[in-house]
Amino acid sequence: MSTRRPLIAGNWKMHKTVAEAESFIQQLLPLVYAAEAVDLAICPPFTALAAMVDSARGSRVQVFAQNMHQAQAGAFTGEISAPMLTEIDVDGVILGHSERRELCGESDRGIALKLAAALDAGLEPILCVGESEAERERGETERKLRHQVQEGLAKVETERLGEVAIAYEPIWAIGTGTVAEPEQAQEAAVFIRALVASRSPEQAGRVRILYGGSVTPENAASLLALADIDGALVGGASLDARAFAAIVAAAAPA
Ligand code: PEP
Repeated sequence: MSTRRPLIAGNWKMHKTVAEAESFIQQLLPLVYAAEAVDLAICPPFTALAAMVDSARGSRVQVFAQNMHQAQAGAFTGEISAPMLTEIDVDGVILGHSERRELCGESDRGIALKLAAALDAGLEPILCVGESEAERERGETERKLRHQVQEGLAKVETERLGEVAIAYEPIWAIGTGTVAEPEQAQEAAVFIRALVASRSPEQAGRVRILYGGSVTPENAASLLALADIDGALVGGASLDARAFAAIVAAAAPA
């Protein structure tokens, strides 16, 4: 674990009603009370954001959205803007998750616009990047990461690069139960940090790089101990308060 403050974020995807979210947070809060050295965020569906913000208020649990539109307002049916999120005190937002890239056609160029809009609005962004299994097998992991990181961050002012968390999420590890080997995660994180360093070595030292892809309480410690991994973006295991709290505990420096 580095000297950067670890961030553990739980991406619920399209899971949990408001009632289920409320029950989760009541279970989670006492379990993470002592984890003072770790930043933690829950990313519920849009419908549960306001309730989660209210229930987590005054605690150390932050609430992030899973997506947003780059415009302030407009004719964008089904979309949510940054001012709509900040109005209800949402703290941050996941951008460019591979499911949105694959299923909703999100492009690096569009994600770059969202990232800039999120920072302008005072939201903490988590930019997701990662290669598919076929890309890894073809030896194209670095090419893919270079493209996604450079394009995704293209509209972020250099002095604000450190405010972005970058989640390295190999697509082949997401929801599959196949977790990346620690060496693979570290290698990718070093590469991503070097990409940020090519714009600003100082900001590269600040930027938090998370690992995502089948993180569980069992494998979290070995990933979170890596020098360039500063936290985790957790899908399936974040749906269970005890499992999520165990991952948060694994991130606390000894
Ligand atoms: C994710 O969706 O970002 C994710 C990492 O999912 P899982 O932990 O279930 O692989």
